[in-house]
Formats: sequence, C-alpha cells, structure tokens
Amino acid sequence: MSVQRPLIEVEENAMKIDLHCHSNLSDGELSPQQLVRYAGEQGIEMLAITDHDLAEPLPEANAAADALAIQLVPGIELSANWGNVAVHVLGLNINPVSAALGPIVERQAAAREQRALEIGERLAKLNIQDSYQGAKAQAGTSRIGRPHFARFLVESGVVKDVKTAYKKYLGAGKVGDVKTHWPAMEEAVQWVHQVEGYAVLAHPAKYNLTRRKLDRLCEDFKEAGGDGLELVSGMQTADITAYHHRLCEKYELYASCGSDFHGPVSSWHDLGKMAPVPGACRMIWECWA
Ligand code: MN
Ligand code: MN
Ligand code: MN
Repeated sequence: MSVQRPLIEVEENAMKIDLHCHSNLSDGELSPQQLVRYAGEQGIEMLAITDHDLAEPLPEANAAADALAIQLVPGIELSANWGNVAVHVLGLNINPVSAALGPIVERQAAAREQRALEIGERLAKLNIQDSYQGAKAQAGTSRIGRPHFARFLVESGVVKDVKTAYKKYLGAGKVGDVKTHWPAMEEAVQWVHQVEGYAVLAHPAKYNLTRRKLDRLCEDFKEAGGDGLELVSGMQTADITAYHHRLCEKYELYASCGSDFHGPVSSWHDLGKMAPVPGACRMIWECWA
C-alpha cells in the first residue's frame, strides 16, 4: 500500500506566518528593522516585508530576524492592471540583489510619480488644491502613494478620517483611482519570476469584484503564470475564506496569508492578525521552506 504525502495541515495557532506587510520604505510606519522586532513581539516565525513597488537588501532587518529566529522572506507588492481593474501582485521569496530588480523598481517609481500628479490634477478639478504637494510632504522620503493623499485630505480638513478619504476620493472606482500607468498583470507576474520569486495575487476580496469576475481574475492570473492567491488577508469571514479556498483548488494556486499591516497607527489589522487558514491548503511557503 503506497503512502501518500498528506497536504500540510495548518492548525490554528500553528506556526505564525505573515507574508504581507509594509515598512516605511513605502507607506508603512516602521522601519524594516522595527517591523521585524514588532513581529518578534507578536510571536511571528516567518515574515515577508512586501513594500509597494520596491525591494532592496535589508541587512539590519535580517540581523534582527536572525537574532529572533524569524525567517525573513524578501518580498515586494507590485501595482498592476487587469483590464480596467487595478490589482496588486505580491512577489514572495524574491532575490533582492537580482540585477533585474533595478529596472522594475525604476519603472514603477516613474509610474507612481505620474499617477500622483494625475491624482493631484483630478482633485484640483474638484476644488481640492495642492494635494500633490501636500501628499508629497506627507510622503517625505518615501514613494508617494494614495495613503499620503489620504493623510493630506484628513489634515487639510477635506474629510474627517482616512477611511472617508478612500470612500469619497481614493478608493476603487473613485476619482483618485488612477491606474493607467501600471504594467499589465501578466507583466507584473513575469517581473516577479525574473527576480526569482513567487507571484501571489494579493487581497482578492479588496477589488470589489463580483464572484464571477473574481473567478475570471484568478483564471487569468493562473494563465499568466501566477503561483498563488492570498487566501487569507487579515481578518475576514469564514465565507470568504471558504470561497478563496475553492478558487485556489480550481486554479491550482498555492495559498498565502498576510495581514497587510502598515503600522500600529494606520492599520486596520495588526501584524500577524488574520483569519485561520483552512487545514487542507497547499501553502506557498512550501515552495521555499
Ligand atoms: Mn499601502
Ligand atoms: Mn495592496
Ligand atoms: Mn499591501
């Protein structure tokens, strides 16, 4: 009788893994090193820092991770377009010293800058002046993004909080949702593979798609060479988890999980805080563990 290797069982409170979070290299609050220390406090054993459209070697964060016995997985979160839907593709376990990385990061930085200028122009047409300069000031030395526009809109009194800023101006389908400058999703997947990583479709529930459309997105993502789906993104309902699980099985995508933590102040989900992952999933970290 042959013994089949069982799928990895992930129990609740099993190894604590968070494969999606942001440092202050993009729009997070903590430095990569602080993020690793914070992960240590949360009992996290495997952590991927996935800053928006950039990645670099993180010697200090790596040293902190080694000291805390945390496996630090190099990552990136790429903005891309699927038709007229802006999607995010995570690159996990990438090679942060790959020669292919520089041109990708440069290209995304240029797209981000152009997009920010366009968001500023669009908001100006709604009589919200100088938002580009305001967001730029919020960003400081970081790459400009929508969270910086959100903080500007709050501080200048246009909206009462960040949530409202997204709801009225910056979220999917709103005036500040400018996406024409990003690469196509297929290209983003190719980039991840060029830098030796695994491509994972991030937070599938955040695109406000119907189930039929999300199904098509997953089909196209697989077709493009995508490797995994972020089955669990922070706290989510068991219903959503079950649905994402079915999509993973249907399109033979590995499952990933992450909090999308941006920092203690601005995050809706704490680092490592997420819904349980179903036991029968094939997890993306099996690919490199
Ligand atoms: Mn972000
Ligand atoms: Mn994202
Ligand atoms: Mn993110």
